[in-house]
Amino acid sequence: MQTAIPELEEYSIVDKIGEGTFSSVFKAEDRYHDLYDNFIWTHTLPHPPWDNDGQPRPRKRVYVALKRIYVTSSPERIYNELEVMEELRHAPNIAYLITAFRREDQIIAVMPYSRHQDFRHYYRDISLGSLRNYFRCLFNALSATHAANVMHRDVKPANFLFNPETQQGVLCDFGLAERFEAQDWKGKCHHTCPTADAPRGSIVINTSVNSTHTAPGGDLHPDTMNASRHAKKAMMGPPPQKAGPLGYKEHDKRSGVRANRAGTRGFRAPEVLLKCQDQTPAVDVWSAGIILLAFLTRRFPVFNANSDMEALLELMIIFGKAKIARAALLHNRTFNCTVPLDNPDGWRITDFIKHLNPSIMNPPSDDPDPDAYFDEVEEALDLCRVCLHVDLTRRWTAEECLGHAFLRVRSD
Ligand code: ADP
Ligand code: MG
Repeated sequence: MQTAIPELEEYSIVDKIGEGTFSSVFKAEDRYHDLYDNFIWTHTLPHPPWDNDGQPRPRKRVYVALKRIYVTSSPERIYNELEVMEELRHAPNIAYLITAFRREDQIIAVMPYSRHQDFRHYYRDISLGSLRNYFRCLFNALSATHAANVMHRDVKPANFLFNPETQQGVLCDFGLAERFEAQDWKGKCHHTCPTADAPRGSIVINTSVNSTHTAPGGDLHPDTMNASRHAKKAMMGPPPQKAGPLGYKEHDKRSGVRANRAGTRGFRAPEVLLKCQDQTPAVDVWSAGIILLAFLTRRFPVFNANSDMEALLELMIIFGKAKIARAALLHNRTFNCTVPLDNPDGWRITDFIKHLNPSIMNPPSDDPDPDAYFDEVEEALDLCRVCLHVDLTRRWTAEECLGHAFLRVRSD
């Protein structure tokens, strides 16, 4: 890599820190820059490069992260990632772009190195104070990203680098980031509920009695018919029906719809699973809510479905049939499920968390004020609730989450 890209001579590579489908990331030392160089300290340090007596501080090593983006990623995608990082340079809690190099098809993005710990090392025993700092940093990053009309689309622990020692975190990996039109984002969905005869897609999760598997025919058939085709069909009368419910793939001649489903399984918002085409930054707030759910239930990953259909089934078991069906209607989809459920109304998410992790209500033995502890746990549970509204019109924005009782700066 260093032979192919002569500019990398500026850096000496220390270690490989990440390897994914589209990139490898290396930790490297900047040979020529000092932590107290004007540019670097103004961006990364809370204090100036001189001490209280006005004397220059001693040299400190500067580490960077070199992200080598593989050629398997399309040029448009790589350009988009770099451009978004560049645009967010001044945003808080974001891994911004220091510079980037290209030689032929080799591309390297250079970011400040963010020391962090693997999520799996701390999610089970994080304190409430650290949890608050984690989400303040994450929602700071998301709120700035959304204010720049960008949605991240891949919020998950591996893309949020949190350092429990400094209590700071940065959002990285804008590889799937997407722009949205400002007027599309009011935190609201612009779909109106369809009338009974409007063309719509339908989703059938079907099972024979006593089976909880999705039947082979169960699949998503979002609407792709335009109005005139629909009107023509209506004039010709209903198509001959085979036995079996409408919406089965084999009985439905409509072609499928394409919607962006970029993201990681277990973190996709219901509107992504429902193939909604006008997705909003609310998808990122949902994913942040799933991270909070992992902390609060002490389970990671919380969801691990193999397909979008299975993922919807998991959500339905927690949130109840009716909520998923109502959200589907918002996106012009019909949700139909014949899976027998013990609890068709689902859970209140806060009860669900307490059910999975009853010890969440036990204050640490050395806690001087157990009552305050209970209040704070309830606030953390409530933050999870407002991030995980299945209906995206009710889900809070990142900005609103920063003002939530759990994250608000306390006077004490
Ligand atoms: P990918 O698109 O391959 O997922 P990421 O940008 O998420 O690439 O980087 C992969 C991993 O590299 C991250 O999960 C993280 O562990 C590490 N990493 C990325 N950027 C940085 C950074 N600025 N500082 C420290 N580690 C980083
Ligand atoms: Mg990543």
